[in-house]
Parts: sequence; structure tokens; C-alpha cells
Amino acid sequence: MKKYRCLLCGIEFESDEANPVCPVCGASGEDIVELDEDGNEVK
Ligand SMILES: [Zn+2]
Repeated sequence: MKKYRCLLCGIEFESDEANPVCPVCGASGEDIVELDEDGNEVK
């Protein structure tokens, strides 16, 4: 599982999807950023 943060509602969630979708607001694509194990955004 990889960790992601939604830039729209701010939650963090885990997903195995190639194109993860926020479970709260349904955002995807550029609104979702991948996080490393320390919770920092992966560029
Ligand atoms: Zn969201």
C-alpha cells in the first residue's frame, strides 16, 4: 500500500490503485499527492 494525501480535503489514505481516488471527496489525479513513510510529499 502507498500513502496519499488529498489536496482538496486534506485527509491521508492508503491505496494500491494506480490512480488513487480520495475516499472522502472523490478527488483524483493532480489533487492527490503520494507520501513517503515520513508523511512528506513525493515529487
Ligand atoms: Zn479528498
